Amino acid sequence: MQITTWQADAAGAPLQRSSAELLPPGPGEALLEVLHCGLCHSDLSMLDNHWGISSYPLVAGHEAVGRVVAVGEGVPETLIGQLRGLGWIAGSCSHCALCLGGDQNLCADLEASVVGRSGGFASHVKAQQDWLIPIPDSLDPALAGPLFCGGITVFAPLIDEAVSPTAHVGVIGIGGLGHMALQFARAWGCQVTAITTNPAKAEEARGFGAHEIQLLGDLAATPNRYDLIINTTNQPLDWDAVVNALAPKGRLHQLGVTLEPIPFNVFPFIAGRRQFTGSPTSSPASLLKMMEFCARHGIQPQVESLPMHEINTAIARLRSGDVRYRFVLDGPA
Ligand SMILES: [Zn+2]
Ligand SMILES: [Zn+2]
Repeated sequence: MQITTWQADAAGAPLQRSSAELLPPGPGEALLEVLHCGLCHSDLSMLDNHWGISSYPLVAGHEAVGRVVAVGEGVPETLIGQLRGLGWIAGSCSHCALCLGGDQNLCADLEASVVGRSGGFASHVKAQQDWLIPIPDSLDPALAGPLFCGGITVFAPLIDEAVSPTAHVGVIGIGGLGHMALQFARAWGCQVTAITTNPAKAEEARGFGAHEIQLLGDLAATPNRYDLIINTTNQPLDWDAVVNALAPKGRLHQLGVTLEPIPFNVFPFIAGRRQFTGSPTSSPASLLKMMEFCARHGIQPQVESLPMHEINTAIARLRSGDVRYRFVLDGPA
C-alpha cells in the first residue's frame, strides 16, 4: 500500500511530504493509522545521524497514537479499531531469555521504530502487536503520544528499580522528560525536587508535583541529600557535585545521552555504596503499567499541538529549546 510520509532525504535536511510503499503487516504485526505523534529529542538525533545508525530517506517519529486498521497473521481481528500507542521499540524476538523474562527492551534483536523502519511522522506505521499499547479511555489520545517514549523513559527508573515511596528524588532538567518525571515521582509518593538552571521554571515545576526547587549550581552545597537523581539532560555537569548530592546507597540514573565520557571520582561509590545506572525505555509490561498509573493519577504530558504539515516548524523550535514541554504533531499526514 502507499502511505504518506514526512521524510528526510539526508542528515539535517528539512522533512518533505512524500509517499512510500508499505508492505502489509507481517505475522504478529498490526498497522496503525496515525492520529498523533510526539516529537522527541531522539528524533533530532536520528534526523542528524548523531548516533551513526540513521539511513535515508528517514521517516522519524516514535511517539505515535493511532487506530489499528489492519492486522497480520496471528493477530486477532478484534484489534482492528482499537486505539494504541507506539514508542521507540516496534519489535523484539520474543523467544530469547531476555524477552521470555519480560526484559524485551534489552533484546539483542529488538527493532527500533525509526531504525530500518518507517516511523510515526506518516499516515500509517507498523509494529509488533506486543509493542502497540492500549490507551485507557480516561486519557486524551491527543496528549498521550509523549508517554510512549519520554514518559516511559522516566517511569522506568521508578518501576523497574522498585523505588521506595519514602525516597527523596531529584530530577535534573525540567523539559520534555523532566516534567513527566516530576509527575510520576510525586504520584509514586516520593519527596520530589526539581533541579534546574532556570529559576523561571520553578512555578511550573511545582505545578508538575515538585515539593522543592534547587538550582543545579547549588547541588554541591547539599551533600548526601537524594536517594535517587534522575538526570534527563545530556550536558556535561559538575559530576562530583551530582554524586556527592546522593545519600549513601543513593543512585544517579542517567537518561540523557551525554556524548562525552563522564569522569567520576570513585570514592563516593565505594565509601557510600552509591550507584550509577541508566536505562533504555522499558518493557511492554511496564508500558501497560505506566498507562494504568497515568489513568489512575490523572498524569498527562503538557504538550503544544501542531498539524503534521508544520513539522519543520516544530523541529526548528525544538532545536532552539522553544517548547513547553513537548510537541505533538496531529494527523492527517
Ligand atoms: Zn529477544
Ligand atoms: Zn524518544
